[in-house]
Amino acid sequence: MFFFQPRGYIVYSYEYFLGLCEKGPRSTFDCAKFRKVRTALLKEGIVRPREILEPEPACWNDFLLVHDVAYMEELKDPQTLGKILFLDYVSPFDTDIIEFFMWVTGGTILSLKTAYEKQVPVFNLGGGFHHAKPGKGEGFCPINDVAIGIRKFRQAHGDKRILVVDLDYHQGNGTALIFEIDNTCFTYSLHRDTWDNVESDTNLDMELPDHCDDLTYLNALRSTLPQVMDAFRPELVVYVAGGDPHINDTLGTFDLTDDAMMERDLFVMAQAKERKCPVAVLAGGGYGQKSWKLYYRFIKCVMRGKCNV
Ligand SMILES: [Zn+2]
Repeated sequence: MFFFQPRGYIVYSYEYFLGLCEKGPRSTFDCAKFRKVRTALLKEGIVRPREILEPEPACWNDFLLVHDVAYMEELKDPQTLGKILFLDYVSPFDTDIIEFFMWVTGGTILSLKTAYEKQVPVFNLGGGFHHAKPGKGEGFCPINDVAIGIRKFRQAHGDKRILVVDLDYHQGNGTALIFEIDNTCFTYSLHRDTWDNVESDTNLDMELPDHCDDLTYLNALRSTLPQVMDAFRPELVVYVAGGDPHINDTLGTFDLTDDAMMERDLFVMAQAKERKCPVAVLAGGGYGQKSWKLYYRFIKCVMRGKCNV
């Protein structure tokens, strides 16, 4: 009997598109970005409908695995949320904004679980809100789905060693602080500015300069990530694959080309594969109308199986 073995999975819900986008966030983030990725993947036959998994929304108790009770109470007010997200106007009845974060966090939870249990790459078409701390949201991140996903994963799978590889243009400061004294979670981040200094044995934070070019960026990655993986021996990698280091990004100031972005992504996947470690990928940032294409190309390459990953 023939059993179909997917090369990986996509995690997506139509709910990702609702809620937030209608409120007009004041940034150059393309709200249709992940819908475009999903549509293109299906249209070109890169993924089949059964390779797209629909998450359940996360609940308040999931959020409380990471965030303080008092802060969660504040977030029940849509206007507090609106301030973190720089929204122009939010009515006290806009509960669909927090629901957006519940769905995307549900997607992150499902991505980690599926990657580990099926031992294949899983791509959440969203997620990576890495700035949020237990009692404070910042930088468009009211909640930290990366950390919630990890804590939820541990309820089912125990204290597996988890490596967060955060290659978003911005520092994964919230995640690093949350796991600062947890030696079963190592956070690795290459970024422009350090938002918070985290001095611990469980993180590596590296700053790169404005207009960082392909070679500088890839050398920084190649000269550090393999050693981190060898020393830490992760059992699951959570990769925040932000598109904002790209030269055309409307927010970031690095100069990475299309080729370097792909090389970066495939290097992370190859390092994990070499060590037989599954990877859950979260989208992270990426701004401008063409940003969706970076994530789309990365997924296409992995799902087609022609990238040696
Ligand atoms: Zn970013």
